[in-house]
Amino acid sequence: MINPERLKATFLDLVKIDSHSREEKDVAQYISARLHSLGVETTMDDAAEKIGGNCGNLLARLTGPLAGKVEPILFCAHMDTVVPGKGVKPVEEHGIFRSSGDTILGADDKSGVAVMLELAHVLKENNLRFGEIELLFTVAEEIGLLGAKNFDTSALKSKRGYFLDSEFVNAISIGAPSAYRMTYRVHGQEAHAGIAPEKGLSAILVAAKAIQGMPLGRIDSETTSNVGSIEGGSATNIVPKLVTIRAEARSHNAQKLETQVTVMRQAFNRAIEATSIIVDGQTIKARIEEIHNLEYQAFRVPESSRTFQLAAKAGADLGMKMVTEVSGGGSDANVFNAIGIESVVLGTGMMDPHTVKEYLNFEDMLNAAKLVVNMVRLSV
Ligand SMILES: [Zn+2]
Repeated sequence: MINPERLKATFLDLVKIDSHSREEKDVAQYISARLHSLGVETTMDDAAEKIGGNCGNLLARLTGPLAGKVEPILFCAHMDTVVPGKGVKPVEEHGIFRSSGDTILGADDKSGVAVMLELAHVLKENNLRFGEIELLFTVAEEIGLLGAKNFDTSALKSKRGYFLDSEFVNAISIGAPSAYRMTYRVHGQEAHAGIAPEKGLSAILVAAKAIQGMPLGRIDSETTSNVGSIEGGSATNIVPKLVTIRAEARSHNAQKLETQVTVMRQAFNRAIEATSIIVDGQTIKARIEEIHNLEYQAFRVPESSRTFQLAAKAGADLGMKMVTEVSGGGSDANVFNAIGIESVVLGTGMMDPHTVKEYLNFEDMLNAAKLVVNMVRLSV
């Protein structure tokens, strides 16, 4: 049923099509053309306008002989890649695909897309009994799940989803954390560093003290936090007046996440108090602007759920040793779980994603294809 050569060729076609976030149009055209050749209609939503991209989310529906009689199922992969992802030249060696070293490979998430296209071929070519299978290809996942967040889910019939967007093919990811992204702007007071340093209040000093006073890294088994970028100041002879700090916090526990964000803000408050100065009899303190956005919400799918069980059974049936995993990062599945479409994340064999060392063992992707076909088979 599965055609390994076709799956391989599809994957190679896909990784050679540039599709940085907000620039997924060409890859969407390829997917549409492949599905149309199978007689499958596709629709594109208006996410492009909402997010300032050149492409919307692409949805296709495969209707089987049991449509309306069994539960519909959603499979999803994202079409965009991280940078540097232009001009990918895939190299194959002993069944392992890599980039030529100066770009990512884009197996994240072209491997998921390839598996879904292979599933469409298999369902169309064989006399399989299935209901309705929805295939969703999202945009701009890598820059904050923007496609999923702007997708009108009323277009979907499925109440369960499988997101092909993880590493290990035998792992079912049942949970992911919530995440906040924060930007802090520390305003100090500018002064000549040689002539009147006592009139200056260094924003860099305030930022340094604040960061020093923050719990960062792995806070506990459920919570992490990171200050990821800092920029500010203009010249060595000027006491710096502005520093911008970008940070994040994640937790599987909503209360712990709120606490972490509060504690980080308190570190700034302490730093402000500790660095206040008196100029001409007036106390001057740094000022801080804080923007924090909840980027995505945590989820946890029970192992007793039909969503989990279908994937677990399909894997076991193929002789795969399926394991349960909880992810440290968010994905489109967070967005869909939050709106009531129970979703887990499945692996495709992508390894070291988001680096130029990214690679994919073809055997793994082939097993991912076998898994999803078997899931559809067992879903009736
Ligand atoms: Zn991904």
